[in-house]
Amino acid sequence: MHTYLIAGGAGFIGSHLCKRLINQHKIICVDNFATGSRGNLSELIDNDRFELIDADICHLDKIHQLKTTPITHILNLACPASPDQYMQAPIATLMTSVQGSHSLLNLAKHHKSKYIFFSTSEVYGDADSLPTTEKYLGQTDTLSDRACYIEGKRSAETLTHLFRHKFQIPTTVLRVFNTYGPNMQTTDGRVVSNFIMAALQESPLRIDGDGHQTRSFCYIDDLIDAIELILDKPDFGPFNVGASRQTTINELATKIKTLCLSSSPLINQPTRAHDPKKRQPCTESFKAATGWSPTIDLDEGLNKTIQYFKGLS
Ligand code: NAD
Ligand code: UDP
Repeated sequence: MHTYLIAGGAGFIGSHLCKRLINQHKIICVDNFATGSRGNLSELIDNDRFELIDADICHLDKIHQLKTTPITHILNLACPASPDQYMQAPIATLMTSVQGSHSLLNLAKHHKSKYIFFSTSEVYGDADSLPTTEKYLGQTDTLSDRACYIEGKRSAETLTHLFRHKFQIPTTVLRVFNTYGPNMQTTDGRVVSNFIMAALQESPLRIDGDGHQTRSFCYIDDLIDAIELILDKPDFGPFNVGASRQTTINELATKIKTLCLSSSPLINQPTRAHDPKKRQPCTESFKAATGWSPTIDLDEGLNKTIQYFKGLS
């Protein structure tokens, strides 16, 4: 049995990871509930192997127990992921990635833990090379509305790399592409949750711009399978992880309307500032390291997600 510290464990991806790993391991979930919820952890709270610490990862120094309990793995998912949410708290977002990563990496150094940093496709900016490989260096702007998230993640990748080389900490960087599924917040502003909630309520689905922009949507269970496969691998990466099929936002809206049997109208609004026009990962290097490829197609994943959102009302 290992002991995992899951930072951001009350969020969408983190809560699924806690649920998957609790069967065989002890979990210490650290979360400040900036964008996560206790509801996501309701199945775990009474489990003897689960512990919840309500704290900001930027300020862990005074939590003595984190130094004294041996921790084998640290998974750092703490950071708002929805553009609406991180743009509302830009300084906290940047500091979470930089200062928070520093604090968790020091903890990894203390325990000699395996450390995995959850980075993002956003480090590539509006990529003009598709499918995007890890060698693509990115087109980003330090002063854009998204910079608090993007530059924070880019700096945290550098910090993760430096700790590996300076202190021989076994570290891995995963660049996660758009993932969706149960436990997303209904109001987090991301496209899948927005469209499903609007369709179920017969409200308009808001399409930013002309809707020709694309994303590649991965269902959460596939991502959790991917993470499980990399947990004890020595590779640093960075690795792209995500679905390879591109979907336009127009196609997504129509699909969700159909699956929800909804008659909601689609309305167009101005494009979001600095919105990437296309996004598609090349996941060959992750596949070579782990053998992983996603298995759940978009219709199946959306149906499961729609059932979850229906169950909330
Ligand atoms: P989320 O917002 O649902 O979860 C993030 C969690 O981190 C929340 O529970 C939040 O309360 C917590 N948190 C934020 N700041 C914190 C801090 N300073 N201290 C402690 N806890 C803090 O987001 P998610 O979709 O689950 O994303 C998880 C991670 O994966 C993020 O790091 C995100 O950048 C990355 N990621 C996600 C996606 C995606 O499509 N979901 C894509 C790329 C990258
Ligand atoms: N989007 C949209 N309507 C919404 C929410 C988002 O058209 O209600 C668009 C958004 O402008 C972007 C894409 O959907 O082009 C994905 O947005 P999201 O916030 O989910 O994630 P991103 O990939 O931009 O981080």
